[in-house]
Amino acid sequence: MSAAHSFVCPCCGYPGIECPPWEKMGLPPWTDHGQPPYSQRYGFPSFACCSCCGFEYGFDDDPGASGAATSFGDYLADWLASGGNWFSPARQPEGWRLDEQLRRAGIVRTPTDDE
Ligand SMILES: [Zn+2]
Repeated sequence: MSAAHSFVCPCCGYPGIECPPWEKMGLPPWTDHGQPPYSQRYGFPSFACCSCCGFEYGFDDDPGASGAATSFGDYLADWLASGGNWFSPARQPEGWRLDEQLRRAGIVRTPTDDE
């Protein structure tokens, strides 16, 4: 797999996304993503689901589609609270660690009240 064809999930930092989550998103490091829906900032979403966290780009962040505008930070916190299981478990690399994945993508996790 060439790095040129690999994009990074803006929610969990998974680096194996096959097409850009949004047409104008690009690769990390990112600055502030702003508020959902992210199509306001990044143009057309791919409507793909992340193999790791399961965020559906253009759906989970769009109140017109999913009924709620979920930010990447909120989704990540909810996903971790529900166990942090891979959406496509077969894609999970051996020895995978979320902290490392987030760090590489420059994603700072917002601690929840439970932590
Ligand atoms: Zn993800």
